[in-house]
Amino acid sequence: MPIATVNPATGETVRTFDALGRDGIEQRIAAAHAAFRQWRLTGFDERARLLRAAADLLDKEQDDIARTMTLEMGKTLTAARAEAAKCAKAMRWYAGHAEALLADEHPAPADVEDSGAVRAYVRYRPLGVVLAVMPWNFPLWQVVRFAAPALMAGNVGLLKHASNVPQTALYLGELFHRAGFPEGCFQTLLIGSGAIEDVLRDPRVAAATLTGSEGAGRAVASVAGDEVKKTVLELGGSDPFIVMPSADLDRAAEVAVTARVQNNGQSCIAAKRFIVHTDVHDAFAERFTRAMSALRVGDPTSLSTDVGPVSSEQGRADLEELVQDALAKGAEALCGARRPEALPDGWYYEPTVLAGITKDMRIHHEEAFGPVATLYRAADLDAAVGIANDTPFGLSSNVWTADEDERRRFVRDLEAGGVYFDGMTASHPALPFGGVKRSGYGRELSGHGIREFCNATTVWYG
Ligand code: NDP
Repeated sequence: MPIATVNPATGETVRTFDALGRDGIEQRIAAAHAAFRQWRLTGFDERARLLRAAADLLDKEQDDIARTMTLEMGKTLTAARAEAAKCAKAMRWYAGHAEALLADEHPAPADVEDSGAVRAYVRYRPLGVVLAVMPWNFPLWQVVRFAAPALMAGNVGLLKHASNVPQTALYLGELFHRAGFPEGCFQTLLIGSGAIEDVLRDPRVAAATLTGSEGAGRAVASVAGDEVKKTVLELGGSDPFIVMPSADLDRAAEVAVTARVQNNGQSCIAAKRFIVHTDVHDAFAERFTRAMSALRVGDPTSLSTDVGPVSSEQGRADLEELVQDALAKGAEALCGARRPEALPDGWYYEPTVLAGITKDMRIHHEEAFGPVATLYRAADLDAAVGIANDTPFGLSSNVWTADEDERRRFVRDLEAGGVYFDGMTASHPALPFGGVKRSGYGRELSGHGIREFCNATTVWYG
């Protein structure tokens, strides 16, 4: 895949970049390794001061970087600005909380004595150089979600960003540098995915984190496994959005639309499968389809646009294939299922609702990365849980019900890294984020996230 900015709204190649050669990669790994030796010795105050400086720069430059993101991957300008603001907030959150999250842990005195020690505790120490392989869909957020805790813990980062967001990738490397982080603490490697293996096998690289597709995750985790290096994987999702009879249907349908089409439908935690109790199925379907049809699809830089283009020609082709496969096997399109006629250039796709989904359809098992929703009818709670769990993925889940007994059942039974009631899944720095099954392993954000790339060291005094 060439490293290039290609505008998804027009299909125009705006700028291409040369991949870094062997010498350039070597220089950056060496710089990262050298930086770690010093950075690990800095205190939390110093790290926090620099991270806050990066947040201030990001706030000041929000409009410019938002325009770059929109140009490179097509998210609406409104969404891009919100993403930049969210990154600054997460940086400040980790600047303020990292020290407490990584404080020494002291076992109960009786247990310390039982271990034969006069004193024992756990200290969280950084691992070293962490390689971050990141996707284009939230080109700032996915990176900051890793970088803020990693840097606060005393690690340093090497970023291999997706090949279609090189300008955002370069901005990130410069942002940390301009904020005052020492040379080598956070660097962008403009490389294709074929060059990742050598970087990961380099003994100076300690660990890797990847957000993206299952295939990319498997490739990186295999190499890391072979090298016995720690990985965190945040892969795809096909989150259920369950609506039970006690739900506020108007509100559920309104949130369902946002949950599906946020980021032009390209979010791992987007609700993708809408599973509705039979008593309210038709009423919900009518509201949801009406609202999906009313969305304004168009130029992502226009403030009146709800849904911009899919990020790449291939991305739209993949989406169309999934929809065609479902239609050919008997699904019914309640709306959409085509390109908008008025937008011949760019990679637009109409918001789509598909009903009559069966297990033999690919979309039942695969992630639809674009504004396409599938609708299921569930006879009761057990059936809803059954459909929700009938997927290789387990990232998050959304449930609309006012019934406490039902809530307890969903928390107990849904196979996912999150259960969100009467709302939609959204990440927050204080709450862990990640999945089970093919959605990956490990957690980002919160104390769980910052400890992933730490060496939990037992310190024992006899
Ligand atoms: P990828 O998973 O291919 O890309 C994500 C990152 O992984 C990029 O930096 C990419 O680099 C890198 N990568 C790709 N293949 C490999 C590999 N074999 N070894 C190591 N690194 C690799 O995402 P795509 O853009 O191709 O999207 C494909 C599908 O993945 C989407 O339709 C969606 O289903 C899913 N996806 C899910 C995301 C999520 O947040 N859950 C995010 C993005 C995609 P390069 O760009 O150079 O190929």
